[in-house]
Amino acid sequence: MTPKSRKAKALERLHSRILECTRCPLHLTRTQAVPGTGSADAEIVFVGEAPGRQEDVQGTPFVGGAGKVFDGLLASIGLSRTDVYITNTVKSRPFVGPPPGRNRTPAREEIAACAPWLAEEIQIIQPRLVVTLGQIALDQFLPHRKISEIHGKPQSTGGITILPLYHPAMSRYGSEWIAILRADFRKISKVMIPESRT
Ligand code: SF4
Repeated sequence: MTPKSRKAKALERLHSRILECTRCPLHLTRTQAVPGTGSADAEIVFVGEAPGRQEDVQGTPFVGGAGKVFDGLLASIGLSRTDVYITNTVKSRPFVGPPPGRNRTPAREEIAACAPWLAEEIQIIQPRLVVTLGQIALDQFLPHRKISEIHGKPQSTGGITILPLYHPAMSRYGSEWIAILRADFRKISKVMIPESRT
């Protein structure tokens, strides 16, 4: 058995703390918190918005409808979940109405309360690239930029390279959006493999 890497151990400890987190009221209504998943040695970290109903039940990010689209997009560039690390901006499910309720966008206070967990995930993994999925995730790194203006264009901030992409859930709006998502996902390979080697 190979010994666990230092990063894997640190991530495991972090996940245990996230699972017990009560920093914001979302802990009162969740089934469980949903920390990130994937390789501690990943070169690419994907950041989505928040767990939905399926994620809340299963305890894993991106396992609902949008998760299936995400898996397909990853496969289209020759990657699988085990190659990368996938997490969300907010780790407990925000929803409205009586349970199971409808997913909602996380509130500003919930995002602020959860931000240190995302920062720690990135601090431990030290990826070469952070791919933000949707405006909420982009706001955590580049709060004044609009995804409609910079999707698919690599950005630099605080020593991190960010590639802002639309959220895979946009695929529900039709084939035009699927084409945009596929084209933007291809940019990931371009960022990871310098032009001279392509
Ligand atoms: S959303 Fe984040 S800050 Fe709020 S309870 Fe869940 S893990 Fe803690």
